[in-house]
Amino acid sequence: MIAANNPSLVSWIDTPENSDFPVQNIPFGIAKPNNKEPRPVTRIGDTVVDLRILSDFGYFDVLKLENNNVFNSPVLNDFIELGSKAWSSVRNQLSILLSDKNQDLYNNDNAKKQCLYHIDDVEMLLPVRIGDYTDFYSSIEHATNVGIMFRDPENALLPNWKHIPVGYHGRSSSIVVSGTNIHRPTGQTKADDTATPAFGPSRLVDFELETAFITGKKTNLGERISVEDADQYIFGMVLFNDLSARDIQKWEYVPLGPFLSKSFGSVVSPWIVTMEALQPFLTEGPKQDPPVLPYLKTSGKKNIDIKLEVTLTPENGDENLICSSNFKYMYWNMNQQLAHQSVSGCNINVGDMYGSGTISGPDQGSYGSMLELTWKGTKPIKLSDGSDRKFIQDNDTIIMRGYAENDNYRIGFGECVTTILPSK
Ligand code: MN
Repeated sequence: MIAANNPSLVSWIDTPENSDFPVQNIPFGIAKPNNKEPRPVTRIGDTVVDLRILSDFGYFDVLKLENNNVFNSPVLNDFIELGSKAWSSVRNQLSILLSDKNQDLYNNDNAKKQCLYHIDDVEMLLPVRIGDYTDFYSSIEHATNVGIMFRDPENALLPNWKHIPVGYHGRSSSIVVSGTNIHRPTGQTKADDTATPAFGPSRLVDFELETAFITGKKTNLGERISVEDADQYIFGMVLFNDLSARDIQKWEYVPLGPFLSKSFGSVVSPWIVTMEALQPFLTEGPKQDPPVLPYLKTSGKKNIDIKLEVTLTPENGDENLICSSNFKYMYWNMNQQLAHQSVSGCNINVGDMYGSGTISGPDQGSYGSMLELTWKGTKPIKLSDGSDRKFIQDNDTIIMRGYAENDNYRIGFGECVTTILPSK
């Protein structure tokens, strides 16, 4: 067992029951405390812990890291670039310092006064400078639903789908951190009963419930990552709301795929949960039939049991749970996605982001988009205030939450929140 995952560990920092952030999590993020520069942090319960201050007090000296300046950076890229041994040793050192068996930091009032903040007293920022962004399409339930709605119920999956982890190269400039609100996009759409397209605000703005992983090790052009080694290249995961304008998408996506319909804003949760913290929740994925080509073949537990939820809150209204799904349903796992991404020799960089694709489950309440939940708008969702929704309206707030849980503790991601504002 990884020492920092030990269920018997307890922190001297108060951790509310059912917190996403017990001492066994130790996620990484970037926070901006009042009157201070952005810096790397971790979190226990509702307390944010400043890694820059811990480094200044020498608490990482024992690790003999190649470069202690990584804790002075406004993004995690330099820290991540130190490699998986460093991620692991820093997480382990934090686990030691923050557990009640250790008195070093606990007894250092000066350090404690400077390095601890309440979560409400910091602004969480985008944790990495994102280089490239790929979005996959790896949920068989989602791909099947979309195929039934838009093509052919008899042949819902295209012939390549069970052989290739289908994806597209997306836009990274508009990936923003939770709490950033997004204006309804404007663009071209064409109704089925008109001959020519129209221009205006999208009427069919949707969320896509996804997770994303962040790569932590680079490859050079021409190299490829084997499916067995792919986990060593993955630093951790976040929640990912891949906002989509379905009417713009429908008109623009043939033949090259989504373009402006998915680049007006994608929202990520601020805490990167490490693959080490998620390790106790690994589980088998669905059986892949027909068998995949050898370069994509994985064995053992490569999926993760992460419960996922989406709520919609109308302006001045209550939060309505509209979707409960699970990351374990994914047909293609992250090893396969990354091995496939690199198989052509395309180079991978530290800080690249890879969206899972919409994560739908087998039953209607587990569909990961409004498109599927309302079946193209034909079955509106009733909200607690009596209104209904086919797609997202102006000033609706979408919140995504995710956590893995066992008898001992819960490892969560916190929230991924955004409000859709009127078109500019
Ligand atoms: Mn997507």
